[in-house]
Amino acid sequence: MTGQPKKLVVLGAGTGGTLAANRIRKRFAESEVTIDVVDRDNRHIYQPGLLFIPFGLADPDEIVRPRDRQLRRGINYHLSGIESVDIDRQRVLLDNGSTLAYDVLLVATGAVLQPEETEGLAGPGRLDDVFTFYDLEGATALAERLESFDSGRLVINVVDMPIKCPVAPIEFAFLADWYFTENGVREDVTITYVTPLDGAFTKPTSSATLSSLLDEKNIELVTEFNTGEVDGVGRKLIGYDEREIPFDLAVVIPLHGGAPYVHNSPGLGDELGFVPTDKATLQSLVKPNIFVLGDAADLPASKAGSVAHFEGEVLVANIESFLAGEPLEATFDGHANCFIETGFSKALLIDFNYETEPLPGHYPGPLGLPLLKESKLNHLGKLMFQWFYWHGLLPGRDIPGIGAAMPTAGKDTGELVSAGTNREGTQ
Ligand SMILES: Cc1cc2nc3c(=O)[nH]c(=O)nc-3n(C[C@H](O)[C@H](O)[C@H](O)COP(=O)(O)OP(=O)(O)OC[C@H]3O[C@@H](n4cnc5c(N)ncnc54)[C@H](O)[C@@H]3O)c2cc1C
Repeated sequence: MTGQPKKLVVLGAGTGGTLAANRIRKRFAESEVTIDVVDRDNRHIYQPGLLFIPFGLADPDEIVRPRDRQLRRGINYHLSGIESVDIDRQRVLLDNGSTLAYDVLLVATGAVLQPEETEGLAGPGRLDDVFTFYDLEGATALAERLESFDSGRLVINVVDMPIKCPVAPIEFAFLADWYFTENGVREDVTITYVTPLDGAFTKPTSSATLSSLLDEKNIELVTEFNTGEVDGVGRKLIGYDEREIPFDLAVVIPLHGGAPYVHNSPGLGDELGFVPTDKATLQSLVKPNIFVLGDAADLPASKAGSVAHFEGEVLVANIESFLAGEPLEATFDGHANCFIETGFSKALLIDFNYETEPLPGHYPGPLGLPLLKESKLNHLGKLMFQWFYWHGLLPGRDIPGIGAAMPTAGKDTGELVSAGTNREGTQ
């Protein structure tokens, strides 16, 4: 590339923004591309670790690291909230009053929790009998509450989709079964999993596997429940259809939306605050010089760190083509994978993409980890993943044998099924 360096601005230094900025820094010299990354705080949370905190299996300090330290040399870090983006004038206005001009913008501001959107959820009872483990404050407070909870009704509720890591609430139910068993009080606690979906999960094959595991563990499944109100004083969930579910302790996953600045940025987002994005190229549908990765996109893929990881490779190739004025040829297939903790030191693993359901077999090839089957190896994989996150995924390293595209080797393609989508088209 010749002439002035191109200006890349990355909004958000979470999983996607960090790994993409690092990959782009590796790919281009500073004389070719300058990189400015913005985030409102300097605490990068390893979000999969939030699941373990309520059960005393992780310490809050272990899952938080400074954001700026995860970025390669030659990346400018701006510690500020984002106020708005002017997509026509190619500028980002920051809360600290400064402005960043860009040639290419990468939106990676994830999804935010919106408890205030559900009646009662942010009101009385919050952090007494009503919790979430989807943020550090909630997960930490819940750990304390669980220590003294030895009998009664535990209800786990997903208000609506899309949510980050759609399997995490089911993992919470499985770990709760393990936790109360370990503490010798399982017979005194009922566990109920309440979901707006018509099954335990969005995809028929894994939904069937997860439903039978819930059943085996004596966890009641309530489906098609659309939460209208969380009454933290009367301790009950009230559905829009007037069904009521009483609880002594509720763990609720609030509605999710895009970052609020998206609504202040005319033309950038949809009504939920997510950015319309081409599901293959990761170029936004709002402007050709805006790209999107991770939870901020409106894609029909899981909102998961694994997705942001697989998207990274495709995104960098397409930003490179865009800067060179060439067609965007790299395509993302919707590849996602998730370890699903099932308690008692076991976990399942699922691997899928836009088109293909989770299949049995092994990942990433015939000698790999078992798919759709509980195993101790998968549990170890889940635990080891944190190391890989800080040292492989965030720095933007390529991992031999693990590519962006969903592998078919090792999978039982005899059971190949087309992926289902939930009623919002979000997997
Ligand atoms: C409990 C839980 C368990 C999970 N488990 C898994 C798992 O096992 N496997 C998996 O793959 N995924 C898991 N995930 C999901 C995964 O963490 C996210 O999908 C992933 O972090 C998305 O990356 P992202 O970059 O899109 O968003 P994030 O990592 O959330 O980053 C977004 C960044 O944008 C910043 N930002 C937002 N708005 C503004 C603003 N106005 N100004 C400045 N900065 C702003 C935020 O501070 C944040 O740093 C889990 C999530 C949760 C909550």
